[in-house]
Amino acid sequence: LKFEDMEFSQEIKKAVSDMGFEEASPIQSQAIPYILEGKDVIGQAQTGTGKTAAFGVPILEMCDEENRQLQAIVLCPTRELCIQVAEEISKLAKYKKNVYILPVYGGQPIERQIKALKKGVQIVIGTPGRVIDHLNRHTLKPGNINMVVLDEADEMFDMGFRDDIELILGKMPEDRQTVFFSATMPQEIMSFAKKFQKNPEIIKV
Ligand code: AMP
Repeated sequence: LKFEDMEFSQEIKKAVSDMGFEEASPIQSQAIPYILEGKDVIGQAQTGTGKTAAFGVPILEMCDEENRQLQAIVLCPTRELCIQVAEEISKLAKYKKNVYILPVYGGQPIERQIKALKKGVQIVIGTPGRVIDHLNRHTLKPGNINMVVLDEADEMFDMGFRDDIELILGKMPEDRQTVFFSATMPQEIMSFAKKFQKNPEIIKV
């Protein structure tokens, strides 16, 4: 499947093409249409399969540029991954000038993040601990979030973030979309998904 034959805006297609992508990867061809339809998805995909664009494209397609409130949140296990995911989504957002994307992770001074959040950010990519910190300070307001993505869910569980993630998901609006990506699908992830997703499409590549 070619990106140009998929159903999303020209602005994102142009950015995808500037990045040198033409053919969608297997995880992208399967996940993007479902996520765009509004479905919950669990995707089993390793790093390097193009999973970032698989959720990045739909997040951007659904992002309302006229609204500066937080609309999507991506949870990642590490600071490095947060930065990498934020960079990839920023590249995809090249022609969507009013989309603001911010990585938030522990170890970086929180004041700087608070200042950036106050200006209005639609997409946050964060590590669970720091996201909870911002939710508690009300510097992250979940009321308008319509999509939550767990990237490398198995890794986050292995690192002991399960309770944090559960707490975060509990604060998200009920009618949101929930997308999980994980390199492996142990029982723990599947039962977690059952609790927090609605009729998910399961994709394995
Ligand atoms: P990821 O699995 O999201 O970390 O992506 C792995 C690498 O593949 C990144 O450098 C992406 O920019 C690149 N990539 C993602 N999707 C495609 C695609 N459809 N065609 C070519 N490269 C891609």
